[in-house]
Parts: sequence; structure tokens; C-alpha cells
Amino acid sequence: MLNFQLSKEQEEIQAKYKDFVDRWVIPNRLKYDELAEFPWEIVKAAYREGIMNGVMPVEYGGHNFSLLDGAVASEELGAGCIGMGISIDANTLALTPLYVAATDEQKKKYFGLINEIQGVAAYCLTEPNAGSDVQGIKSLALKKGDKYILNGHKRFITNAEVSTFMTVFAQTDPEKGSRSLTAFLVPSDSAGIEFKPRLQKMGQKASVQNEILFHDVEIPVENRIGEEGHGFLIAMKTFDRTRTGVAALSVGNARAAYEIAKEWTKNRRQFGQPIASNQAIGFMLADMATKIECARLITWYAAWAYDFDKKKLNKLSAMSKLYASDIGMEVTTDAVQAMGGDGYSREFHVEKMMRDAKLCQIYEGTNQVQRVVISKSILKE
Ligand SMILES: Cc1cc2nc3c(=O)[nH]c(=O)nc-3n(C[C@H](O)[C@H](O)[C@H](O)COP(=O)(O)OP(=O)(O)OC[C@H]3O[C@@H](n4cnc5c(N)ncnc54)[C@H](O)[C@@H]3O)c2cc1C
Repeated sequence: MLNFQLSKEQEEIQAKYKDFVDRWVIPNRLKYDELAEFPWEIVKAAYREGIMNGVMPVEYGGHNFSLLDGAVASEELGAGCIGMGISIDANTLALTPLYVAATDEQKKKYFGLINEIQGVAAYCLTEPNAGSDVQGIKSLALKKGDKYILNGHKRFITNAEVSTFMTVFAQTDPEKGSRSLTAFLVPSDSAGIEFKPRLQKMGQKASVQNEILFHDVEIPVENRIGEEGHGFLIAMKTFDRTRTGVAALSVGNARAAYEIAKEWTKNRRQFGQPIASNQAIGFMLADMATKIECARLITWYAAWAYDFDKKKLNKLSAMSKLYASDIGMEVTTDAVQAMGGDGYSREFHVEKMMRDAKLCQIYEGTNQVQRVVISKSILKE
């Protein structure tokens, strides 16, 4: 039997995140959009109120969220501010390699640490010459006794300069190349780590990114996540879990822009009638509402697949990210258009939502790469 009803617990998660967003995120979103700084006061409040680290096991301070619980939560964060939402969700991204592949001891230590100091972690995959092509990663961690010595260059790393530790992907054997890709836990204050100045960017300004240089950074062997050579699989398993989060943030952002545009076009009168009474605008609102519903459905379906139909997960999570972030861009652009000059002004926040939407089509694999994932999957079926 099909059931589109959230459980009582999921409704409680939705209400709790919405309440947090109403009190902390919406009142501060323009401030952080202008400051372009990491929103520490919001993240600390999120820790106090049990909003952080939902994915972590309860015994390590998390909430044992299913992927669907996480999607419900991320939609509310996205409805407030994707920039702040991704500061929180990029932490989940960085913790996910631990979730999927770490030992109990590693989980206990690093989940415990991040919770105790109420910090954030960063996920370091992308390099100057390895963006979409993850197998082009050249960072090298060579084993020497009971340590690995890491040298390399990462870029576009969210939360980097504010992180407590990073999950870093590097080769361990130049001869095996990408087949030796391996994941490591690297404390961010390790000697030899250089954070370059913060990335200046179009939107999602409440999140921060840096380039990182690793110069002979020593990593104890016990900080390796999984086996040598398992890094690519761990990175892909991570994205299978986190792409629904990006999709959900996009749905929330689109929903917020649509709601503002709907109210505005109902109240704004030109030619003696509300703007929304013009079929051109009414149809625009109808398309926005339809796209949001469809995007939410594929997102929840993909999240559901993690627990109930893993065979479909890879394809569905890529589809959810592709579809939801594309409609996120369309809906926010239409919201600006429907509101004319007011849409373009800072006052109504929809121009920020449009700028924020763009990045969801790019990070965690561009939407062209999602199509590569989907086409490979359907051609194998
Ligand atoms: C603000 C921001 C935050 C980010 N945060 C993180 C993070 O926390 N951790 C992390 O590791 N990375 C992060 N990234 C990196 C992000 O995941 C990459 O930017 C993305 O994967 C694309 O890589 P690239 O920028 O090198 O583009 P490229 O790979 O150079 O791609 C350029 C263009 O070519 C297209 N293209 C590439 N290959 C193909 C193909 N086979 N078929 C069709 N088209 C193709 C792409 O879709 C894109 O349009 C972040 C990026 C940004 C901008």
C-alpha cells in the first residue's frame, strides 16, 4: 500500500526545524548574506536545540535520522536559508564517510569530539584538476611506519577554515593511481595545513569555502577510514546518502520563494486587479506549485529507497538532486519575475533565493554529472 503521510515523529521533526528556522534563520539570513561569514551563532543555537548531526547514532549524540527524516529536516532549513542549511548539512556530508565506513572506535571518537566541542567538519574531495572527474585526484598520502604523509591541494571545501576535522580523499599508491583512493580523518589544526583565503561567490554566502594545501601532513594510521583503495566507493556511498539533502534544501528554497511570490501577486494590484488574476501569472504560480510537489516526491522517494530498495538508491538520489535543483532554479527565477522590481530588490529575499538556488545545480556533482550517473544506471538495467 502507498502512503504519502509522514509519521508522527517526522511531523515533529518538521515542526521542530520550522520553529528553529522561524526564530534563528529567517531573521538573520540577510545579515549573513551580506557578511558572507560562517554563521557560528546559528550553528551553536542549532547544537543547543538538537538540530545538528541528526544522522549520527543516538549513542554518539545524534538522532538516528533515516534519510527521509533528514530530507524533511533539510527542506525546512532550505526554506530559511540554503547557505545556513548547507553549513549544517556540509557537516553531515563530512561525517557520512564515517557513518558508512568507520570503525566503532573511530565513530565514538570523532562523533563524540564534534558533538562535545559543538564544531563542524569538512569534506575534502575536489581538487583543482579533479572536480567532476573524482578519479583525477592527485593528493597523495604515502605510508611511512605508523603514519601516512599527506601532500596535496583541495579546493572549494565547505566549512574548511572553521572545521575541527576533515575527511580527506587521497591516493596511497601512485602506481595504482585512482584505484588507491583512500579516505582519512585529518584534524584541521594538524601541522602543515594551509587554508587559503575564503572563496568569494554568488550565493549561499552564509557558508564558507577555502582552498587547502597539505604540506607533509602526518596522519596516524588509525585515522584511515576503511581500507586503502576503498576511497572512491566511500565517496560515492556518501553522495548516495547526501544528494537527497541537497534536493531537499532546493525544495525548501523553492517553496519559500513561491510562497512569497504568491502572497505578493495576490496583493499587488495593476490595471484594477491583483497581478495573480492575470492568467500569465496564475499559470506561473501553478507551474511553480506543481514542480515543488514533484520535486518533493522524488526526493522523499529517493530517501525512502535508502531503507527499502537500495538497488534504486544511486539512480533515484541522482534524479532527486538533478530535478529538485533544476526546478529550484526555475521557481526562484519565476518568483523574481512575477514580482517585477520588488522581486529584484533585496527587500523581499527572493533575489537571494535565486542566487542561492544556482549552487545546488553545481555542488555534490553537477547536474550534468547526475545525468551521467542516471544514464549509466538505466543503461545497465
Ligand atoms: C560553493 C561550493 C562549495 C563546494 N563544496 C565542496 C565541498 O565541501 N567538498 C568538495 O569536495 N567539493 C566541494 N565543491 C566542489 C564541487 O563539488 C565541484 O565544483 C563540482 O563537482 C564540479 O567540479 P568543477 O567545479 O571542477 O567543474 P568541472 O568538473 O571542471 O566541470 C565544468 C563543467 O563541465 C561539465 N562537465 C564535466 N564533466 C562532464 C561530463 N562528463 N559530461 C558532461 N559535462 C561535464 C560540468 O557539469 C560543468 O558544467 C564545492 C563547490 C562550490 C562552488
